[in-house]
Amino acid sequence: MQDYQKPFIGVYEHFRRIESSGFIAAIPIIEDPIEGVNTRVLKIKTDGAEIVHDDGLNTDVFPPQEAFRRVLEVFSQRNLPSHGAIPIYGLDPSMYNNFLQFKCSPQGIPTGELIRDNSGDIEDPLTWHKAVDKYARDKGFVGGIPVVFNGDTVFVYLLSSAEAEVDVFYAHEINHYTNMTFNIPDAQRDLLLEAHELILSKIDCNTHPEIPAGVKSAFGFSELVYRDIGDNVPCDVRPGFILLGCYYNSRIWLNFAELASSESLAKTVIHEIMHSCGYDHPERPDPDDLSHPYYSSIPVLAELCIDGGFSAGLL
Ligand SMILES: [Zn+2]
Repeated sequence: MQDYQKPFIGVYEHFRRIESSGFIAAIPIIEDPIEGVNTRVLKIKTDGAEIVHDDGLNTDVFPPQEAFRRVLEVFSQRNLPSHGAIPIYGLDPSMYNNFLQFKCSPQGIPTGELIRDNSGDIEDPLTWHKAVDKYARDKGFVGGIPVVFNGDTVFVYLLSSAEAEVDVFYAHEINHYTNMTFNIPDAQRDLLLEAHELILSKIDCNTHPEIPAGVKSAFGFSELVYRDIGDNVPCDVRPGFILLGCYYNSRIWLNFAELASSESLAKTVIHEIMHSCGYDHPERPDPDDLSHPYYSSIPVLAELCIDGGFSAGLL
């Protein structure tokens, strides 16, 4: 995974899990993939657009301009003169053989018109995406995407409101797709990412600002590692309790055998995320006593956000 691919992956994966009626995919106008500044997004309308698979396409190349060129080469064989195509990236490696085809054809503009207001190298992906987007908006379009450079001309897609709509995605909505390490099988990773989206939809559940602030910080900017509970977990198991999760030193262990739904997984994950932000709790009382300080700690209160109940295991 190249750095420039990360915002594409985060935007694509977040977009396809949220309500998106009328749109087929979302493309980031790269602002800063590393620092996670809010990302301007072009949501491509479904009308006339399609995600196309081609076995011969491999967009996992560097630099990004090469990926855009390869897509255009493959797309040109489809003979759709009023359409265009760009790479589309997701977590699944098969996405390297997919491209997004939409109802907008490339137009050539002089490179000088782009770099006039931009210092920096036009071949750098951060610069070229921003420069083209700015040019497009100055001309009354909703946004623009660079395609390919050809000497003094750069070919761009200038998207109108008939083809795309602008949105803003926040760092905590997209960065967790690419800044976390998943030392678990793909099926568990996918369920875990579903749990992440569920957490994002629930974090404003009560009056404790530590909970949304902690989740946003962890999802947007931290680099957590996920492992299975059987993989050298450092936390103790007490008789009578099932160990569901454990946090230690930027690593989160999860009991995937017990946490089979995204809801149960989300409750454990949000608890461990609060630990990663520095919030702790006394040992869980046995037998349970809801007046015990364990139940008024931030990690345990965060569990309530998901479905109003506490987790049944040890966390
Ligand atoms: Zn805990």
